[in-house]
Amino acid sequence: MNDCLFCKMATGEIKPEVVYEDDKILAFKDINPKAPVHILVIPKVHVATLNDLDDTKLAGLLLTTVAKLAAQADIAESGYRTIINCNSEGGQEVYHLHLHLLGGKKIESPLA
Ligand code: 5GP
Ligand code: ZN
Repeated sequence: MNDCLFCKMATGEIKPEVVYEDDKILAFKDINPKAPVHILVIPKVHVATLNDLDDTKLAGLLLTTVAKLAAQADIAESGYRTIINCNSEGGQEVYHLHLHLLGGKKIESPLA
């Protein structure tokens, strides 16, 4: 996707503050952090929304990477919240699938 911001990060055309990378996944710091730890985990391949994710292996890799990065950021035991926003009413602003990893403070729940 030529005009996709996160695809440009995946290819290295735009360089975010990367915290993890492998052949399938990139993780980088959110530019507008809502918590001391706010990392975005994306597939390198373009997947617009969670509705479009049909690769179960990739889905698993995204989740296990979040857990790995929580441990790396030393928030695995204190706790963290993972968010996937989908489409407009779900609050999605960037249409390339991403998992938010938020922690380092008490993260208020939208379910409270
Ligand atoms: P969404 O609302 O789509 O779930 O979240 C998009 C996230 O991407 C937001 O938290 C926003 O701060 C982040 N973001 C948007 N543009 C950039 C950027 O250019 N660089 C980085 N690192 N994060 C971005
Ligand atoms: Zn993309």
